[in-house]
Amino acid sequence: IKKIALLTSGGDAPGMNAAVRSVVRACTYYRIECVGVYRGYEGLIEGDFEALSGRHVSNIINKGGTILKSARSMEFKTVEGRAKAHKNLVDAGVNALVVVGGDGTFTGGLKFIQEFNFPVVGIPGTIDNDIYGTDYTIGYDTALNTVVEVIDKIRDTAGSHNRLFFIEVMGRDAGFIALNAGIGSGAEEVLIPEKDIGLDKLEESLKNGRDKGKTSSIVVVTEGKKIGKSVFELGDYIKEKYPAYDIRVSVLGHMQRGGTPSCFDRVLASRLGVAAVECLLDRVSGVMVGVINNEIVLTGLNKAIKLNNEIDKELLRVAEITSV
Ligand code: ATP
Repeated sequence: IKKIALLTSGGDAPGMNAAVRSVVRACTYYRIECVGVYRGYEGLIEGDFEALSGRHVSNIINKGGTILKSARSMEFKTVEGRAKAHKNLVDAGVNALVVVGGDGTFTGGLKFIQEFNFPVVGIPGTIDNDIYGTDYTIGYDTALNTVVEVIDKIRDTAGSHNRLFFIEVMGRDAGFIALNAGIGSGAEEVLIPEKDIGLDKLEESLKNGRDKGKTSSIVVVTEGKKIGKSVFELGDYIKEKYPAYDIRVSVLGHMQRGGTPSCFDRVLASRLGVAAVECLLDRVSGVMVGVINNEIVLTGLNKAIKLNNEIDKELLRVAEITSV
């Protein structure tokens, strides 16, 4: 391996820049060249490359987003698109590719390996933490801290007005953000895709809270339908059934993707960047680098895509016990 190309793809996540920096610096350390690819697979197809030296990545470890930009590329989903991308890499003398992203990004990378026998290693970068083969994805910790900070602020206003807040957080099909931020912010109830508590249980928790004289209640909800309802439908349903509740719905949205990466995400990204380069130097391809029990673990990209990261049952119990 003499030259590695690097791209960030799919939804951006805080800490992606720290991963970019780490890959570039590891390349410098091992005396191999690194080429940055702009706008994910889109830039791979268009040949939007720039040679990156260690200095190109100065002062980015603390920046949110990704200096390489990200994109969703429909063309990369076609064989023709991937053939163009492959030709660009070969023409540029690139021997291997590091992709930072989520499931979709890894699916594209896997196809690339299968079709062209081109070495690819994945780094999990998404705030959702929904990737099998790693305890944490890059960006998740920062997003959690952002969500908790915002819920703390909402709690101030909820408490002053005796309000019930339904707060929608990101996570796609995974409840990691909602469950952990729910525990961390002291929410009354957490609605996640992994566990359908049912409307009865939700109503019971809210009633219990009122009976005990709680002045405000917060329910954290993962995006998408929960108990068969969107967050707004849930708010309407409870409002109609319990007119005495003063209900507000708040959708946190894209702020969860932004901001300065936490130290945890920076360290994680730095570790995974080095691990990815070292994998390729060891001629290992088709894997994602992750961290399990604080050790670097390699997982086949096919497994990382197919299997789900399971929600921690103990956390579900803690959420239930501490919101009593
Ligand atoms: P996030 O979870 O943060 O959204 P992601 O990597 O899952 O990240 P996607 O938009 O699903 O985000 O995928 C990123 C890119 O990977 C797509 O725009 C596309 O170019 C490529 N990709 C996704 N699925 C496939 C596929 N089935 N075949 C080829 N390429 C794919």
